[in-house]
Amino acid sequence: MDDLIIETVNNSPLKTIEKQKSKSRFVLKDLTSVLPLNSDQIFKMMNNNNREIIENILFRFEIPEDKNCGYFSMKKKTKYCYSNKCKGCQIISRLIKTVLLDVDNIEIYYGKKKGKIINIERYRYFKNIYKKNEISQELNRYISKELKSLKCNKYLDENIDIYSTENKHYNYIVNSILVNKILTDKKIYLYNNYLWSFICRNSINILSLEKEYKSLEELVRNPYFSDYSSPMVKNIENKKLSTSCTKGILKQLTIILYELVNNFFIHSEPCIDYINYNAETVNIPFKKENITFQFKISINLNHYSSVNYNKNRFFCNFHTNIKNYGIPIEKLDIYFNKTKNYLEKNTKLKFEKEYEESRIFGYKIGNRSEIFLRTIKTHGVPLFNQSFEFVCFLVSFMGNKCFYKTFIECEHEYGIWKGLWRLEEYDYLMKDIEKIRNDGNNNFKNILSIIKKYYIRFDALTYFYDKL
Ligand SMILES: [Zn+2]
Repeated sequence: MDDLIIETVNNSPLKTIEKQKSKSRFVLKDLTSVLPLNSDQIFKMMNNNNREIIENILFRFEIPEDKNCGYFSMKKKTKYCYSNKCKGCQIISRLIKTVLLDVDNIEIYYGKKKGKIINIERYRYFKNIYKKNEISQELNRYISKELKSLKCNKYLDENIDIYSTENKHYNYIVNSILVNKILTDKKIYLYNNYLWSFICRNSINILSLEKEYKSLEELVRNPYFSDYSSPMVKNIENKKLSTSCTKGILKQLTIILYELVNNFFIHSEPCIDYINYNAETVNIPFKKENITFQFKISINLNHYSSVNYNKNRFFCNFHTNIKNYGIPIEKLDIYFNKTKNYLEKNTKLKFEKEYEESRIFGYKIGNRSEIFLRTIKTHGVPLFNQSFEFVCFLVSFMGNKCFYKTFIECEHEYGIWKGLWRLEEYDYLMKDIEKIRNDGNNNFKNILSIIKKYYIRFDALTYFYDKL
């Protein structure tokens, strides 16, 4: 465990918080190979362990570790060591029906998660700790100052301490747990698929829930989410999502990101490949009311995701020199979109007020996209996090046939989407998106190559949230 102690803990606000003893009985330290546990209790134990990680985030990681386990993550066992099973292997052996783990996934046969599949990914474990990253701290201060002078309403507070690790798996684990915690605190029960981790011998095992629907194409095959449920419509080309499903996806995506960007969340590879769809009902708050959805979406994280928690920021910096490129965009501009709504709303207003209210601040990433991406991905800077990644996710959905076919029929939502873009650029943008939609090349790299060419409004996410 000593390998995982955080080196710099000065000025940590967590120091003063008295650690509360978990009320639950199901804590990992009580686990023995003979303790009777059902699946639900095992998941409770995993959750409690994740909570311990957050409580101790600046002191030491509580990822269970055993270098002498005789079971090699349940893949094989050494001779004559039937008793020395690590805590992780003890958990796994309870979830499987076979003696050893023959495959890399486990089906749950009992309890609330019955029928779900757990994937286990295994990586070589190497010593790692989150350390305070002074260079990123300095860069963040510089960029915050620049954004402030641009009158950008969101920039990182200079009191935030910035920590980085070189181990992308740790970073994925920590950020996944933190993001779920942030959403829980806001009563937004739309969790990513991360479950739990343990270190057995030389490898770290990461457990996550398999996607219920691998893609929108798979979702649309379920008549419940589709407008064309007739068995005659076999060809996927003719199928499209139902209107309520399309609007639900948009709303949930906006709600998740709206909350997370308050904690300066960066996903680092925003596109629909990371979206989870679940056929479960959920009740979540939206603008002072509670909305019930008949299904859930959530965003799975990337190795280079980052987020703030309790005045600390956690990101992954692996073999990249942090350089100050300033604000890596090609152009900034103020413009107007004289849409119908704009005219109706403002005809009675005086010009000055009209000007103040209707001007839009936008930026174009242009030829600096590579540096822009590096700055948010490996330098720990949440640059334009109120717009860039949200817009990437939206473009990614627009680049999907099943989604787009229904979306263009949602008049209200379509109008808001249009308002995200500069009027004279809009048709060109839609032609570019049409290309990825037809080619099926809807990945982040292609999305970035499109949106770097167009103005993105600074307030994209709040604009969209307010109008929804
Ligand atoms: Zn083990």
